[in-house]
Amino acid sequence: MSKQGILFVLTGPSGVGKGTVLAEVCKQKELYLSTSATTREPRPGEQDGVQYYFLTREQFEQKVAENGFLEHAEFSGNCYGTPAEPVDAQLDAGHDVMLEIEVQGAMQVHQMRPDAVRIFIAPPSFAELERRLTGRGTEDADAVRRRLETAKHELTLAKEFDYIVVNNTVEQATADVLAILRAENCRAAQV
Ligand code: 5GP
Repeated sequence: MSKQGILFVLTGPSGVGKGTVLAEVCKQKELYLSTSATTREPRPGEQDGVQYYFLTREQFEQKVAENGFLEHAEFSGNCYGTPAEPVDAQLDAGHDVMLEIEVQGAMQVHQMRPDAVRIFIAPPSFAELERRLTGRGTEDADAVRRRLETAKHELTLAKEFDYIVVNNTVEQATADVLAILRAENCRAAQV
């Protein structure tokens, strides 16, 4: 049988820099990035099918009912989910897949796919996370407050994950994630 790809999950609180680190990782390692579905409104510049598939609640619930998601979760008042079919197709083709998702969903992946390698990106401190999330300017003050409340709880779950990478600098966190991907590929290597 030909080699299956490895399913990686990158998680951590909103604002911790998951997207930035992942963009750097992808410059150095070929990965299939899953495009999620969400019910949240597109931000300026976001396009359907690029950053997300933007669905109505009804469309999202329909896909849940059809078991179309590998995992899904409600986060800050919106639904987010990973479409299962494209992920499985890539894994079957032997390609490594990366999901960049929030913490509840990442916990679910463990139940559905025990082989998945789950990486938790942590901030150097809660104060730094607050600074990054506020500085990003993508959410209003209320949404920032909600995301920080959620983050407090999420940080208590970090130890449940296979790896914790502290995002002190993008360079160092990128190097750490690349090292994990490399090690896991060696673990799965076939001769
Ligand atoms: P944002 O609204 O800032 O784009 O995303 C909010 C959070 O949802 C982020 O932590 C992001 O990683 C997470 N997220 C994006 N796609 C998915 C998904 O398919 N499933 C889950 N569980 N979380 C997701």
